[in-house]
Amino acid sequence: MTLPHITVLGSLNMDLVAYVPHHPLPGETLTADAFATSPGGKGANQAVACAKLSRDRPIEEHKEGGPWKGETAHVSMVGVVGKDGYGSQLRGNLARYGVDVSGVVESKEATTGVALIIVDKPTGENRIVLSPGANHVLTEGDFKNGLGLLGEGKPDLLIMQLEIQFGAVLAALKAAKEAGVDVLLNPAPARKLPDEAYQGLAHLVVNETEASILGEVEVSVLDTEEGLERVARGFVEKGARNVIITLGGRGVYYMSRDGRKGLTPAEKAKVVDTTAAGDTFVGMYALDAVGKRDGEFDIEAAVKKANKAAAKTVERAGAQDSIPWRDELE
Ligand code: ATP
Repeated sequence: MTLPHITVLGSLNMDLVAYVPHHPLPGETLTADAFATSPGGKGANQAVACAKLSRDRPIEEHKEGGPWKGETAHVSMVGVVGKDGYGSQLRGNLARYGVDVSGVVESKEATTGVALIIVDKPTGENRIVLSPGANHVLTEGDFKNGLGLLGEGKPDLLIMQLEIQFGAVLAALKAAKEAGVDVLLNPAPARKLPDEAYQGLAHLVVNETEASILGEVEVSVLDTEEGLERVARGFVEKGARNVIITLGGRGVYYMSRDGRKGLTPAEKAKVVDTTAAGDTFVGMYALDAVGKRDGEFDIEAAVKKANKAAAKTVERAGAQDSIPWRDELE
């Protein structure tokens, strides 16, 4: 049996996190209380979510290449890292979770993307500097002649975010449409999309901030079900087939072009750390949606499963580590 194939085209970053007693003043040199590195980047996080949620926890230390127990999808990542230590760590980490990294290439010129994160320990407030580095190597031109860069064969679902060059995302959207490949777009960090980006888009997944920026409304509009319906309908009218607005602890508003819509509450969770909740939601939803035509896809059931997976993530600290394996949801 051939497994459904999900490809994530997006960013890989190393997060460098320093925990400080207060944010440094201009010119001040501060000693951190603690420091940690952790693999991140929305693209990589969503690839890990798809991989972990589609296979059981490895019983022994997994060797690259499988086989995995109960694998239900083939997940590959396409992106660029630098020819440096962080780049090889990020590739190795994805492979450890079962992601096919043959499409993660090394740039000779650019360095691996990094996020410098300073956390003020007393308040938990973050200050973040993002250096996209190799994530910005891919350009519009790379998708001018189709999706060839994604490797042999077409994926059944292509997932993208906006942490690589916007022109590359728009060109890949167009190429996917021409090739008949379904796309799930998670437009984060948010920016307005041209109208053609919505046309035929299989799945648009946005959080509240993204919905307000793309929909050009105040965030407060999303406080009511009427407001959510209006914003989601705007995206459907522009051509999106399925729209998801994630609302943190409130849950999810969904709408599909065949008229199904509703507000599904979040699962009850003891919140420890919400990092990667959105990425987990995307991964589980994508695994349910992959390969299904509009008539076959039960959007409400997909939302419920994705809420369940994301609730598990918020109960644990960390990013990729906190995403559950499939058997942890049973
Ligand atoms: P993040 O950037 O933290 O990954 P996000 O802003 O993209 O998240 P959210 O809307 O905050 O996305 O959360 C995504 C999903 O995670 C929610 O729709 C819900 O299913 C789950 N979730 C988030 N917060 C909670 C919570 N407090 N309790 C239960 N589930 C939650």
